[in-house]
Amino acid sequence: MKEKIIPETLKKVVEEISNLPGYGEKSAQKLAVNILNMPRGEALKLIENFTEMLEKIHPCRECGIYAEEELCPVCLDEDRDKTVICVVEESFDAFAIERTGKYNGLYHVIGGRLSPLEEITPEDLNIESLIERVEKNPVKEVILATNPTVEGEATASYIYNLLKNKNIIISRIGYGLPFGAILENADDFTLAKALEHKTPI
Ligand SMILES: [Zn+2]
Repeated sequence: MKEKIIPETLKKVVEEISNLPGYGEKSAQKLAVNILNMPRGEALKLIENFTEMLEKIHPCRECGIYAEEELCPVCLDEDRDKTVICVVEESFDAFAIERTGKYNGLYHVIGGRLSPLEEITPEDLNIESLIERVEKNPVKEVILATNPTVEGEATASYIYNLLKNKNIIISRIGYGLPFGAILENADDFTLAKALEHKTPI
């Protein structure tokens, strides 16, 4: 009965947002209301930006970082060390590492983390393409920079097991980062330290 008071269109938007990972019903409601409360022009501009983003942004063919071109600026850069690949969960983790200016290798975005709760299995992540890259290119080191969370650790150890017999150095990002931290939110100094203190597994 109570439900009937919620306009159908609003209900639909809230439902769709709350289907996104990391959004509950409350945060979905908040986002919808924030957009409704925006000046109409700004709100429409925001929606336009979303459309433009969907049209222009796609994962880099090689590493999976979100980019506007077929290959991202990192993969196109001749000066990068192509023997090192840093494995991250999401593009924004790579952007955070780039911001430190302390890393000169390549990236591989797996697109999430293993999570039995959310039913995310290895097949849902770009892990197979990582193994292929390691096999087909002169890679000497893989740095596992998944987040220091339970799922991030499980993901790192899953990838480690697939790579351990491939005659390369496999290291894990160091722990200036507190357990449970999210790479993307770490300050540049902490992240730079964590990279510096990576340790071979
Ligand atoms: Zn790339």
